Amino acid sequence: MKTLIIKNWCVMSVLAVLTVLAFAMGSAVSAQDAPASTPAFALPPLPYAENALEPFISARTMSYHYDKHHLTYVDSLNKLVAGTPFAGESLETIIQETVGAADKVQIFNSAAQDWNHTFFWNSMKPGGGGAPTGRLLEIIDKSFGSYEKFRAAFVDAGVKQFGSGWVWLIQDGDNLSVISTSNADTPIAHGQNPLLTCDVWEHAYYLDFQNRRKDFLGAFLDHLANWQAAESRIK
Ligand code: MN
Repeated sequence: MKTLIIKNWCVMSVLAVLTVLAFAMGSAVSAQDAPASTPAFALPPLPYAENALEPFISARTMSYHYDKHHLTYVDSLNKLVAGTPFAGESLETIIQETVGAADKVQIFNSAAQDWNHTFFWNSMKPGGGGAPTGRLLEIIDKSFGSYEKFRAAFVDAGVKQFGSGWVWLIQDGDNLSVISTSNADTPIAHGQNPLLTCDVWEHAYYLDFQNRRKDFLGAFLDHLANWQAAESRIK
């Protein structure tokens, strides 16, 4: 019995030493593979060509909006999180951990704007828009009374969002709601489930629509909205 205990102790000690060695080697390898200069986040690819949403959103707007504005948010986030525990976290986690923190406003803004823009690109598709069909239309009818009433509420929320922000279709329990958020704020920071968004910062529409935000929101809903993507997000 005593021998068995000693044997077990020896085996456990050897295993412990091996574990420590493996961990040390693993750390050395991962430190080599991931130098501090490797950016934590990359600009996600657009789901279509930059001219694919013309004539409603021009390639020129997409070039500024995606290649410059969105990229700047990604670059800023990488600089802000370099060398911090945030560098190993998902965008969603960073957003939820920094919302409302006075000393982390820049990290929140950059992470949320990165997430919001990727969500916006995926809220559109060439040949999209018009009323959805199937399950999504049923829930829109139940929540708003009709698609036309939903359309009016979405455009109105976008027009009334003072200054920069976003208008969203979100799932609210068994129903859907339209909300708007200011600047970088995003429903995922508040435990809400967004289905679709339109960017109403001036940089999203000024080259194509100048001050006519209402027309931009109409074009988004009538010609670009990706209803299949929106329906797939219903929980
Ligand atoms: Mn934007």
